Amino acid sequence: MKNFEEGFLFSVAIDGPAGAGKSSVARAVASELGVCYFDTGALYRTVGFFLLQNGVDLKREDEIEKRLENCDLEVFCKDKEQKIFLNGKKIGEEIRTSEISSAASFVSKNFFVRKFLLKTQRDFAKKNSVIMDGRDIGTVVLKNANLKIFLTASLNVRVLRRYKEFVGKGIFTSIEEVLKEIENRDYNDKTRKFAPLKMAKDAILIDNSKISFEESVERVVSLVKKHILEEQVEFI
Ligand code: C5P
Repeated sequence: MKNFEEGFLFSVAIDGPAGAGKSSVARAVASELGVCYFDTGALYRTVGFFLLQNGVDLKREDEIEKRLENCDLEVFCKDKEQKIFLNGKKIGEEIRTSEISSAASFVSKNFFVRKFLLKTQRDFAKKNSVIMDGRDIGTVVLKNANLKIFLTASLNVRVLRRYKEFVGKGIFTSIEEVLKEIENRDYNDKTRKFAPLKMAKDAILIDNSKISFEESVERVVSLVKKHILEEQVEFI
């Protein structure tokens, strides 16, 4: 795995619905392979956060387009982790609340928002080997990704995972609230006009409802080795 052709970069797209464990799996895979992890949901969350902070009515498409002119997003990879700066300020846990999840889901329908973020995502992959997770990575953002994974799990499993995540962070919520949020986000993601959530024709499906987190990571890592890294070694 070390003797890559000089300058060899690869990309892995991991798409799937909310709560499928994409972020944690993608982060662990990236860490094991020593490449960058890019969480595209964090970009939509940051834009939602920015618009709410500026008092923008998220239903006003014209207003959103105008406001995006003042949204300076910088994304780079440090210590193999994605760092986001919004107008010079580092973004952290403030984008992980339920309010921002719903705002991100809402603004992700907006054409100008998707167009605005497309370049950021593609530019990143041009400069770094990356494990990128989201909803439209294999179908739109990185159509030529070296490997595409569609990671999913049953609704019950996804809701329970998200609920435990909130409890672990000390955020008070109920199973019913989490179920409602996930169902709404799934609906928004699958039915939007631009870049809806769907499995790319050439993606590999992994349903992790009944397998452990470690096994999900292991499956993705071995697919990366088989489909990308071993071929690259043979090639040189
Ligand atoms: O992945 P995460 O749940 O953090 O994403 C927040 C929201 O951003 C999602 O509910 C989805 O609507 C949107 N999103 C998207 N396209 C992506 C990544 C996220 O529309 N590539």
